[in-house]
Amino acid sequence: MAAPVLIASEIYRRSTYGPKHPLAIPRVSTTLDLIRALGWLAPGQYLDSPMASVPELQRFHDADYIAALQRAEANQGIDPEDRERFRIGADGNPVYREVFRRPATSAGGVILAARMTAAAGGTVHVPGGGTHHGMRAKASGFCYVNDAVLGLLAWLDAGLTRILYLDIDAHHGDGVEIAFADDARVTTLSIHEGGRWPFSGSAHAGPHALNLAVPPGFNDTEMRALLQGLVLPLIARLRPEAIMLQCGADALEEDPLARLSLSNNAHADFIAAVKDAAPRFILLGGGGYNPWTVARCWARGWATLNGQAAPERLPPAAEAVLRGLSFHRAAGRNPPEHWFTTLADEPREGPVRAEVSALLAQPLPEIGQAVAW
Ligand SMILES: [Zn+2]
Repeated sequence: MAAPVLIASEIYRRSTYGPKHPLAIPRVSTTLDLIRALGWLAPGQYLDSPMASVPELQRFHDADYIAALQRAEANQGIDPEDRERFRIGADGNPVYREVFRRPATSAGGVILAARMTAAAGGTVHVPGGGTHHGMRAKASGFCYVNDAVLGLLAWLDAGLTRILYLDIDAHHGDGVEIAFADDARVTTLSIHEGGRWPFSGSAHAGPHALNLAVPPGFNDTEMRALLQGLVLPLIARLRPEAIMLQCGADALEEDPLARLSLSNNAHADFIAAVKDAAPRFILLGGGGYNPWTVARCWARGWATLNGQAAPERLPPAAEAVLRGLSFHRAAGRNPPEHWFTTLADEPREGPVRAEVSALLAQPLPEIGQAVAW
C-alpha cells in the first residue's frame, strides 16, 4: 500500500481564537514542526490543504450560514441578528482573523483525503480536521464547519455504503452523530467523558449511533478494554469500507478542559488497532488544549501510521520545538521535563471500573442490524 499522506496547511500557524481562548495555542503547526524535526515526512508524503469552496461547504451547511461566516471574516465582526441565529461570536466561537478561511481549509483537507482514498484506498492524516461539533447552520464548541461530516459525505458521494466513524475526543461527537442519524450507511461510535459538554451521548442513539460515556479518570486499561471488547468486534461485524477516526487529544491526563486520564499510548494503540481494519483510513485531530500534549499525541499518531516507534529520547531539533512553546494556563508554569524530551507518555494503567464494565456488557449484536447491505 502507498505510504500515508499528511494534509495540513500553514494557515494554522499564528492563527488564534484570541489570547484568552483555549484555542489560543498552536497545535497543527507544532505537530508539523515536530514531525519534520524527527525526519518522519518523506518527500511526497505532504500535501497542502486546499480551501473548500462554498458549494463544497454547502454539501452539508446552509447557504445563509456559510454567507454569515464569510461576512464575519470580511467585517471582523458580526451583527446581532447573525450572532443570535448562527452563534458566531457567541458561546466560545469567536470572530477571529481566519474565521472563514481556517474552517474552510480544514474542510478542504478532509474532503481531499476522502476523495483521494475513495478510489485508490490508503491512509491520510489531517491533524487540522476533527471539528465534530459543527452543525448545519450553527457554530458550536469552537467548530464552525463540520469537516468530518463533509469528508464522510465525500465518501458517500463516491459510492461507499459501509462507513465507520470513530471518535475518541473527550467530548461527544454530537455534530457527526446528528448529521447521519437517519443514514444507515454511516455508523458512528463516540467514546467521551459522561456529564461533560455538550451533555449528549449518554446512551446509544440508535442502531448505528453508538455512545460510550466514560467516567472521569478513564485510564489506558479501560480504553484497551473498550477497544478490544467493543470497537474491534464492531469492526469485525460491520466490515467497513472506510474508517475515519477523530483523535482529539483532550482525553489525555494533562488536558485542562476534561478530566480523563489517558496517556498517549492509548491513542497510539487505538490508531494501530484500527488503521488497517478497512482499505481506507482517515485520521483527524480534534480537541486538545495543552500545546505539549496535543503536539506529542498527534506527532505520535503520524508515527504510528508509518510504523515508526517513538524514540526513547527526542533528538535536539524536536526537543527545541517543544521547548519553544509557551502556555499561559497553570500547566504552563512548571512543565515537567518529559514534555520536552519524550514523545511517548508513561502508561496510565488502572482498574477497569464498574462504569466501564457496564458499557462492555451492552449487547453489541444489536449494533448494525438495521444496516442493510
Ligand atoms: Zn473535545
